[in-house]
Amino acid sequence: MSYINEIFAKVVERNPNEPEFHQAVKEFLDSVEPVLNRNSKYLRYGVIERIVEPERQIIFRVPWVDDKGDVQVNRGFRIEFNSAIGPYKGGLRFHPSVNASIIKFLGFEQIFKNSLTGLPIGGGKGGSDFDPKGKSEAEVMSFCQSFMTELFRHIGPDTDVPAGDIGVGGREIGYMYGQYKRIKNAYEGVLTGKGLNWGGSLVRKEATGYGLVYFVEEMLKTRGESFAGKTVVISGSGNVAIYAAEKAAELGGRVVAMSDSNGYILDEKGIDLNAMKRIKEVERGRCKDYLNQHADAHYGDNWPDIWTIPCDIALPCATQNEIDEKAAKTLVSNGCIAVGEGANMPSTPGAVGVFLENKVLFGPAKAANAGGVAVSALEMSQNSMRYSWTFSEVDQKLKEIMISIHRKSSEAAREYGFEDNLVVGANIAGFLKVADAMLEQGVV
Ligand code: NDP
Repeated sequence: MSYINEIFAKVVERNPNEPEFHQAVKEFLDSVEPVLNRNSKYLRYGVIERIVEPERQIIFRVPWVDDKGDVQVNRGFRIEFNSAIGPYKGGLRFHPSVNASIIKFLGFEQIFKNSLTGLPIGGGKGGSDFDPKGKSEAEVMSFCQSFMTELFRHIGPDTDVPAGDIGVGGREIGYMYGQYKRIKNAYEGVLTGKGLNWGGSLVRKEATGYGLVYFVEEMLKTRGESFAGKTVVISGSGNVAIYAAEKAAELGGRVVAMSDSNGYILDEKGIDLNAMKRIKEVERGRCKDYLNQHADAHYGDNWPDIWTIPCDIALPCATQNEIDEKAAKTLVSNGCIAVGEGANMPSTPGAVGVFLENKVLFGPAKAANAGGVAVSALEMSQNSMRYSWTFSEVDQKLKEIMISIHRKSSEAAREYGFEDNLVVGANIAGFLKVADAMLEQGVV
């Protein structure tokens, strides 16, 4: 058995029943094998064995009382995966599907994503199997306060700085920040994605979606293409999807479809983003409500069918493994030329294979959606300085970071003989910085 296979077998044995984590580790190991063949120092000092094992895993009880007076118990997680290049950094996800496997895969990918941004942030992730959907304001607040009542002792502005993810937006960050401040008696930058009046950064809300589009624009440029006049399909209708749609439209793309976990909207004229923002951000409604204002749009009640809609550019921005091999083949046969992953690991390994074989421009999540965490790190800098940059200053920095991630990933792919394969390139470029830091800091 090769060294890589041995390590992978050990990961599977040590982390049973964690398919998403195995999937993320497998892709990483396959990508970095050429680096290990060229540099024996990473093997000699056990960098790979260490990097696949989280530095710390915290699992805790989150008890709270619902509006009926009944006690509810959820499970909380924080996986502090790697702090070689900075404090742990990564979002919190509140969704009923959350378990150790999902948080571990997200935390693992976060290490390399954060490294690619060029900013001093380590990798971590957390969350809970709590479902904010259908809960009252009082219930969401009660849950967030209970969650932070345990989490606060594990985090800090120089230790671990969580942010949002699925089910955690400005509202949840606000309730958690309030509780942290109350317990610690300290006004410090312990969370990112904060409100603009109390330590948040301009562009943080838009960052993942805008960054994704900046990254895809760089990919398109390599073929002399741009967003102008292209048909774009975006899954999801949350934070990432909405701002990806906004920037894609601003660059001349026609975004025709968006979705949620109930179904998808197809509006051939181009999605009315003001309507979608109001439904999702103000009314906390469903995609189907779009029909109330645009009766001529089409609503399909099986959301994965969104990938059967012909498009030039596909931006999966909902959840992991949402594009399987069959959906990828459909996209290719419908003429799709570029796929940018806004969600984390939205394409199965089979789907990635189809995109690469067919020379579809493919932007893997850890490179393409790094804009969110990049602006989170800029929020940390602004908090430390007690100073705020303007919208255009942050947006400009975000754009430069996304261009640089594209360049670093392309160069690493080329250097190791995988020209145009940004999956391999992003993994290698992200890995090298962390691995060298781990070597320099000794066996810890
Ligand atoms: P939101 O909660 O704001 O939105 C998530 C969207 O995806 C909703 O439309 C939701 O539909 C849909 N969705 C979620 N889970 C499923 C599912 N299992 N099946 C179908 N649809 C689903 O989350 P974000 O926009 O913040 O996150 C979306 C993705 O982007 C995630 O993969 C996240 O990890 C990734 N990401 C987010 C970053 C950020 O800055 N927020 C940064 C980098 C990556 P419904 O409302 O019906 O649940």
